[in-house]
Amino acid sequence: MKGEWVIFPGIPKKDRKSLNEYLAAGGYEAARKVLTQMGSQDVIEEVKKSGLRGRGGAGFPAGVKWGFVPRDVEGPRYLCCNADEGEPGTFKDREILLHVPHQLIEGMIIASYAIGANKAFVYVRGEFHKEAASLQRAIDEAKEKGFLGENLFGSDFSLDIVVHMGAGAYVCGEETALINSIEGRRGWPRLRPPFPAVKGLYGRPTIVNNVETLASVPFIISRGADEFRKYGTEKSAGTKLFAVSGWVKKPGVYERELGIPLKELLEDVCGGSRDGRPFYFVIPGGISAPPLTADELDVTMDYEALAEKGTMLGSGAVMVFPEGTCPVRVALRAIKFYEHESCGQCTPCREGSGWVARMLEDVEKGQLVGEDLELLADVAQNIFGKTVCPLGDSVALVTLGFLKKFREEFEKHLDAGRCPYAE
Ligand code: SF4
Repeated sequence: MKGEWVIFPGIPKKDRKSLNEYLAAGGYEAARKVLTQMGSQDVIEEVKKSGLRGRGGAGFPAGVKWGFVPRDVEGPRYLCCNADEGEPGTFKDREILLHVPHQLIEGMIIASYAIGANKAFVYVRGEFHKEAASLQRAIDEAKEKGFLGENLFGSDFSLDIVVHMGAGAYVCGEETALINSIEGRRGWPRLRPPFPAVKGLYGRPTIVNNVETLASVPFIISRGADEFRKYGTEKSAGTKLFAVSGWVKKPGVYERELGIPLKELLEDVCGGSRDGRPFYFVIPGGISAPPLTADELDVTMDYEALAEKGTMLGSGAVMVFPEGTCPVRVALRAIKFYEHESCGQCTPCREGSGWVARMLEDVEKGQLVGEDLELLADVAQNIFGKTVCPLGDSVALVTLGFLKKFREEFEKHLDAGRCPYAE
């Protein structure tokens, strides 16, 4: 029998904001247990056993990542929490920062102990002023209580957490760009190898984890990996925060098990279509995930099932579009975003994103000739796999995804010489 949700248990979110409220809900007991009863390797093994995968988009197993930090290297190591939530459609980490900031801090204490870091950073999206203030308040409370600082819970482990504000660049959500930005450099992604676990912040071993990933850790330690694995599927364990937006009656952030059928999420949890108009397509994992058409919605929301459909779970941001939406316009809007956010470091991304955007603009106006759709696909395909970070790949995936699923719609624009959806 399963108990409470992992991130937002039955206790109302608003009632776990302050330290006293969090303590009353059993807060910081997992950190105490780790620091007084467990070795760092035991913590890594428990998190590995839980099957927790990164909730920021890539889905890499968190415990395995922690295990990459070399144990025999002297000197500082760092933990960076990625709170640069900038993927269009994604708005779930901010809920954690606003409503359960102590749970994130506790997860960071446990992760820092596991990898041997005495200094940790939270890189907060530049626009998240309220969220940063909420987190800083919680850090101050924790420090005052002795949960941060020197000799935590009577152990010889010390930890300081610093809140670092971003400056509004989407690409700084990529872990090596985030590291460069904390160092005060231009937020450009780095070539890998070396990977951050070996050579990251200030040239030292560094682990970068997403907010939701770290906030899941206290549950795993206090209730055990086996309990965590009762949620979700064999390969996609645990729960997930789904940020649902668009044409549903009740958009919002919902914690549900990984593997929930998409239709159940849209119909039962979010109340179905806003006005009865059928769904036309759904983007299941943030704007970088290729769309699912109405007849592909019979899918479960986990890493494997969505990959089988040629898309991805990503950040768990579900964007719902009703019939009457112009898919060319949605693709154009997404690519314009990437064009604007490209850091300009790689030629295929810098030039290709603008080229694709200009061609999509021409498609939308019906000014492209039919054969040029092949050129559009070719340009997009040639960006894929040839860039330093995944932003370039996203340009290709989104363009090719829309072109494949809505080819007829693209052609209708060209035949009509205008957007058929325009008034
Ligand atoms: Fe910058 Fe784009 Fe290259 Fe990423 S893919 S490093 S955003 S130019």
